[in-house]
Amino acid sequence: MLTVYNTMTRKKEEFHPLHAGEVSIYCCGVTPYNDPHIGNARPFVTWDVIRRFLARKGYRVRYIQNFTDVDDKIINAANREGVTWKDISDRYIAAYFEAMDALNVRRADVFPRVSETMEDIISMIETLIARGYAYATAAGDVYYRVEAFARYGCLSGRSLDDMEAGARVEVNEAKDHPMDFALWKAAKPGEPSWDSPWGKGRPGWHIECSAMSVKYLGTAFDFHGGGSDLIFPHHENEIAQAEPCIDADEKFARYWLHNGFITIDNEKMSKSKNNFFTVKDILKEFTGEVIRFFILQTHYRSPLDFSDERLKEAQTALERLRKVHEVIGELAPRDGAAETAAPLAAQAETFLQAFDAAMEDDFNTALAISQMFGLAKEINRYHQEVTRGAAFDAVHFRQAADAYRTMAEVIGIFEQETAAADDGLTDALMALIIRIRQDARAAKNWAVADQIRDGLKEAGVLIEDTPAGVHWKRA
Ligand SMILES: [Zn+2]
Repeated sequence: MLTVYNTMTRKKEEFHPLHAGEVSIYCCGVTPYNDPHIGNARPFVTWDVIRRFLARKGYRVRYIQNFTDVDDKIINAANREGVTWKDISDRYIAAYFEAMDALNVRRADVFPRVSETMEDIISMIETLIARGYAYATAAGDVYYRVEAFARYGCLSGRSLDDMEAGARVEVNEAKDHPMDFALWKAAKPGEPSWDSPWGKGRPGWHIECSAMSVKYLGTAFDFHGGGSDLIFPHHENEIAQAEPCIDADEKFARYWLHNGFITIDNEKMSKSKNNFFTVKDILKEFTGEVIRFFILQTHYRSPLDFSDERLKEAQTALERLRKVHEVIGELAPRDGAAETAAPLAAQAETFLQAFDAAMEDDFNTALAISQMFGLAKEINRYHQEVTRGAAFDAVHFRQAADAYRTMAEVIGIFEQETAAADDGLTDALMALIIRIRQDARAAKNWAVADQIRDGLKEAGVLIEDTPAGVHWKRA
């Protein structure tokens, strides 16, 4: 039974999907105006693991993640560089994909953009005005009327008075209540704008996610996710916007999951504090799988302290798991009819059950990974027995290997070429093999030269003789 911590109820709850066999998820995406930093990456790695695990449990998963491609930060960056807002958002959407591909984050089913969802956004604002939840001003702005929504504050657990006391509220005579927030902003010179019933303008930030989630998942869906900094005001406002537009018996998002911050020296990592590290920069020193593994070694709701040492520890730990993955690659294809691995297969089953149980307990990846280490140790032990001469048991060994691979697939590791992580060993070995082949050719020993070329081809490596020398590449 899957249980999840629901921010809305502040407790762990049993998960029951809205539709049997299906899970629908909306996660707030990035504002593409800079290279994603590791704090940006955390929710997407988290949801990627959740999606993988739900797929393992047999669910058909639909996952939507937006791009806030119309935003002050994008417009400011465009003005600074003298390019269009679209140049900036396209560039950093590409940067987002590049970083997430490196972290083995699978693509969403749909990546809606604000600029491509304008009709739905405007139509939702019209509904809110018609139902008394919003009002247009003479200046062409539209505000949400927080006092009209009795449940306002339900997610963050704050009252309007608390919010007002905690916020730096500008004096704005056009607003009915200081906490009323913009659904539509009238156009200003030099800013991109779209036609609307209230004149040219662009949407406020929050309305897009209400409009997009309802458009792509329907008026009720299973999970809504994002960083815990989005609980207020963003997700609070999403609920306030969406609920008045849907039937009273519908629920909008049913489970709200929020991941913790990434900290540096116990301070929250953020662009504004200038203490952030981009994924791109960390990738110069560590592979994407190490970064991913580092993130998943901590439960998603806990703060995650970032440091070079922690990354190096993750690298060492992942390398230990990878060695076992290689042992499996070496042993699994072998034949052997002995019965020596029956205990190993039984242990593997136990570890896999414990792995699943950890994931079913609010997606506890940290605990799940420790089960993987448990199985790794047992596989190593068996490998040593076989190395020392014990007869090999192919059937039971493969059962253990399958359990290990299943865990790796959920965690999302061992999916990339190991070349980048092997400290140039592959290159050094290839140079040696090519030199032996060259020597064989020079000695007119064609049999050996051909044997090397054919053997490499079988291993998926192509040798090319060029005027500039011999090159090799993966087929
Ligand atoms: Zn959002």
